[in-house]
Amino acid sequence: TDLAHIRNFSIVAHIDHGKSTLADRLIQLTGTVAERDMKEQLLDAMDIERERGITIKANTVRIEYPAKDGITYVLNLIDTPGHVDFAYEVSRSMKAVEGSLLVVDASQGVEAQTLANVYTAMEADHEIVPVLNKVDLPAAEPDRVREQIEDVIGIEAHDAVEISAKTGLGIPEVLEAIVQRLPAPTVGDRDKPLKALLVDSKYDSYLGVVVIVRIIDGVLKKGQRIRMMGTGGTYPVDRVGIYRPAMQDVDELGPGEIGFLTASIKQVRDTRVGDTITLEKNGATEALPGFKPSIPVVFCGLFPVDTNDFEDMRDAIEKLALNDASFTSEMETSAALGFGFRCGFLGLLHLEVIRDRLEREYDIDLITTAPSVIYHVYMRDGTRVDLHNPADMPDPTHIDHIEEPRIKATILVPDDYLGDVLKLCQERRGIQMDLTYAGSRAMVVYDLPLNEVVFDFYDRLKSVTKGYASFDYQMIGYREDHLVKMQILVNDEPVDALSMLVHRDRAEGRGRAMCEKLKELIPRHMFKIPIQAAIGGRVIARETLSAMRKDVTAKCYGGDASRKRKLLDKQKAGKKKMRQFGKVEIPQEAFINALKMD
Ligand code: GDP
Ligand code: MG
Repeated sequence: TDLAHIRNFSIVAHIDHGKSTLADRLIQLTGTVAERDMKEQLLDAMDIERERGITIKANTVRIEYPAKDGITYVLNLIDTPGHVDFAYEVSRSMKAVEGSLLVVDASQGVEAQTLANVYTAMEADHEIVPVLNKVDLPAAEPDRVREQIEDVIGIEAHDAVEISAKTGLGIPEVLEAIVQRLPAPTVGDRDKPLKALLVDSKYDSYLGVVVIVRIIDGVLKKGQRIRMMGTGGTYPVDRVGIYRPAMQDVDELGPGEIGFLTASIKQVRDTRVGDTITLEKNGATEALPGFKPSIPVVFCGLFPVDTNDFEDMRDAIEKLALNDASFTSEMETSAALGFGFRCGFLGLLHLEVIRDRLEREYDIDLITTAPSVIYHVYMRDGTRVDLHNPADMPDPTHIDHIEEPRIKATILVPDDYLGDVLKLCQERRGIQMDLTYAGSRAMVVYDLPLNEVVFDFYDRLKSVTKGYASFDYQMIGYREDHLVKMQILVNDEPVDALSMLVHRDRAEGRGRAMCEKLKELIPRHMFKIPIQAAIGGRVIARETLSAMRKDVTAKCYGGDASRKRKLLDKQKAGKKKMRQFGKVEIPQEAFINALKMD
């Protein structure tokens, strides 16, 4: 295809503003998919993606559009991940296209992820076409939102396209705007050695790893031997093709084009988003700039509730890791929880997605330990320990100081809830960086410790603002603070899985809250159980769970044998969800619930 007749673009939006619906309409209107094959959310493949309304893997589709100027254009839409956890991969895949449609719900206006995503697009030098969606809703205020886009984001919005992705209103205008207002790909050279950007990859059980690529220079064909410049791997190309959105083989992909390749690659781990693909022999000498593999920032232990599930869990984790290069795992043994895995994730959502999949797709009940960030522990001897697991904390007398990761959080919230949001951020050791107004909404920017956010910050934010706040963050670096390791002792035995690093000034409150929670969560036993929080040898909080007075079956009056048996069976089933700690049984939910603060 003539480069002048190609348009490569992505759609950026806050969640639920209509990105997937618009993509569906574009695919439908251009007849890319036969009407009978049309189903909703064509690009969102995985169940979990659909349910949560997020994209985890980049998807792409080629659309042909006969424009008003008589020319048929090739439009390549890349649907990139829409969540902060995948920020680095988003910013890399944005480099594969030249423009973005900025979709804003005209009844809601600009939200935190609108800002985060449009800024990523601007950093990738995209031309941006604002699109006001949901104008069919009575609450839509396109003029107000237009003004807001100009004020808050600082881009021209008077010629924003007004649409309803639901009814189809304005979709032809969007297609014309893509062709007229977004740039063609910058000129690449067919005769130079192959240089292609690795946009994303996914594991397919029939084809092996499928890689989405954007060709910069040269030509990609079946039969070539390619080399990944970052990882060094070399592979023979089996298939080259495009998505429409079903896979369709093509003879070659040239400069400016987007498509896929397969090359007998065994695992997704061998393909890093942002890597440069070239030919094995006489390849390009210089890779595309700025490649760095994305690394996990949040860690937690995952243990099977039933120890018999350990082998199944190992298999499941290996399978999930095949399709996800940024998910890491290593075996871990805990005195209390037995055999399990210490796993690393890009963020909390990533953690939840993996945990969900293990439980749902592989049917394994899990205990999740407190999520932890990576602390930099500087030792007196000048060395640094990167601590992912509070259980591995070095002897405090050898520690010089500890640094923790900080984030810059941006929150948009209606005025009425601003006070509660400021209070929450303050409680979580936040430092206010900025506070501005856009209409009746406030935009607050806070510098916050990541460890105060990883657990339940987002849930708390939602509850104090009744769901009206939007939130986004980015990492800003490490800073020293007074952090100590707090241990929880149940019946005088330390429970590893509940230990955590906390700020010295917050330790007492946190410890007290955890002891109180655990007192409610642990069922009574035949004996008294002390529950304590301690720093080093010093107890900072304590609760006592009193002993149970009678046998549970006592209330069955001894008469009704079947009822008694039922109750015992029920207790046995309940046991599956409990773990034994010394003489004490702790239910599975206790591990996660004890950490929630209200
Ligand atoms: P995404 O999260 O940005 O991909 O948003 P979706 O495309 O999944 O849309 C979120 C919700 O808004 C869905 O329930 C859609 O049916 C609805 N929606 C999308 N576009 C429109 C529109 O133009 N009008 C109305 N009324 N609803 C819409
Ligand atoms: Mg979507």
